[in-house]
Amino acid sequence: MSLDTAIETKHIVKKYNEFVAVNGVDLKVTKGECFGLLGPNGAGKSSLMKMMYCHSVITEGELFVLGLNAKKNFREIKSKIGVVPQDNLLDSDFNAIDNLRLFAKYQQIDDYTAAETIRSLLKLLKLEDFANSEIETLSGGTQRRLAIARALINSPEIIFLDEPTTGLDPQSRLWLWNFIKQVKEMNGTIFLTTHYIEEAEELCDRVAIMDRGKILCVDQPRILIKQHIGDEIVEFFSNPVDLNYYLNRLKEFNYEYQVYNNMVLVFLKSGQDSKRIFDIIKSEKVTVRKPSLNDVFLKLAGYNLRDE
Ligand code: ADP
Repeated sequence: MSLDTAIETKHIVKKYNEFVAVNGVDLKVTKGECFGLLGPNGAGKSSLMKMMYCHSVITEGELFVLGLNAKKNFREIKSKIGVVPQDNLLDSDFNAIDNLRLFAKYQQIDDYTAAETIRSLLKLLKLEDFANSEIETLSGGTQRRLAIARALINSPEIIFLDEPTTGLDPQSRLWLWNFIKQVKEMNGTIFLTTHYIEEAEELCDRVAIMDRGKILCVDQPRILIKQHIGDEIVEFFSNPVDLNYYLNRLKEFNYEYQVYNNMVLVFLKSGQDSKRIFDIIKSEKVTVRKPSLNDVFLKLAGYNLRDE
């Protein structure tokens, strides 16, 4: 394992009884990058991430975090990472600051260092006014900031964030995005899961798209867009009667396309011209647009709704 590698999984599997939630994943996350794991609900993102932060038993395969074997050195790994779980997992028996103190004790940080660190984290995360508040009285955004403060108590080398902005109001979401950008600027390593594609595109240096326990692709968002979609998308609605005719014409000219209901998306690679499509298609509703990571996601994971 290279010194630059923060996390490495080798054919890792997670089963719940017979159900395979993570199905042979190979991933490498480099130190200093913000890596996003993207996928629909139930894809296996949390299951994979929980093994990485040593919260869940690995069924098969190997996993190394900061060069340490997750099957053997989980205590040491836990002392070097910070975790913000999806549901925050704050202890409502204690107020905000006591949640932080308690966690500092769990991390075996001495009282003096803990007090100093907590003071600066309360300031950094704009929590000073809430230090003595009971957990239930805090808004969703404030609880998330408290969970982040807790994750930073041990000055972690990697921060894991599970669906960090799910359920947050727009202001808290923006604040969190800026915070993640600040951590990135300081060269911190971040591993996050999200089902918000624009979040991954905005924040992540590289993303992996996961579905049904498998990784479908990994790379920088702009490279994934170029590779799987191309330079532009021509989108049009077709009358069901004409659809086959249009698709045959597109095939004739080697255009790659995807059909969803009666909407056709034509993926233009570099060198392919949209003008010819306008000659072929006689629909009134033709638009040309730049592709996004969302298009890659829908192409690879499909349009079907997931049950969960
Ligand atoms: P995601 O984070 O992508 O939404 P999860 O990792 O939470 O996906 O879940 C993947 C699949 O594993 C889902 O079908 C989910 O129902 C199942 N699953 C997750 N946790 C458990 C568990 N503790 N016991 C049984 N099945 C689980």
